[in-house]
Amino acid sequence: MPNWDGFSIRDYLREEYSAPVFVDNDVNLMALGELWRLQRSLQNFLVIKVGTGIGCGIVCHGEVYRGANGSAGDVGHICVDTAGPRCHCGNLGCVETMAAGPAISRLATEAAMSGESELLAACLADKGIITPEDVSQASRNGDAAANRIIQHTGNLIGQMLASVVNFFNPSHVFIGGGITRVGPLFLASVRQSVYQRSLALSTRHLEIQYTPLAEQAGLVGAGVLAMQETLKKRGFGR
Ligand SMILES: [Zn+2]
Repeated sequence: MPNWDGFSIRDYLREEYSAPVFVDNDVNLMALGELWRLQRSLQNFLVIKVGTGIGCGIVCHGEVYRGANGSAGDVGHICVDTAGPRCHCGNLGCVETMAAGPAISRLATEAAMSGESELLAACLADKGIITPEDVSQASRNGDAAANRIIQHTGNLIGQMLASVVNFFNPSHVFIGGGITRVGPLFLASVRQSVYQRSLALSTRHLEIQYTPLAEQAGLVGAGVLAMQETLKKRGFGR
């Protein structure tokens, strides 16, 4: 996030609230929330958040793994098409620029304007924009273009995920963020793509589902972070 680089959110909030402040990114907090819900019964899993961007929280040996500089899990800029559109990071065909929420809206707008979908065209005329939820609604109403867009973006995310699964061998992948509102067709497309592309050994017991804590995951994780860090400072916990 270029404009936030080097800005200390922690110091800023500490001045405002004169209380201890702990900061982490949304997807790490979602991973922490799910870890808490599971009471550590799963040791190695991923949380993928698909919203305006795409990020990945990594739980390794029962702990959130943040990497050497805290940027582990930045999977949004993995390339899924070397001839794809240019991403805001400067590279071509990043999964984030081709399959996150704004990409779904962009593809739907193209389908509406090309006359491919009457439903999406009506939505665009009515509201001036098409959200991923609108695409989902059109898909539920049997719109072929909406189905194609959801399957296409699900496949691209699955393509990225297949490499990550081969590399990390998680037992579970939980998908969260705004994309969960798109529903079962998106999840089915991700699964199909991952199972097709990953090594059999990596996927033998792999489960891919939406985050059980849904929109609460990040909030629960933030509470857990504050609690754990406070206990740690006082010499309890790990
Ligand atoms: Zn990028």
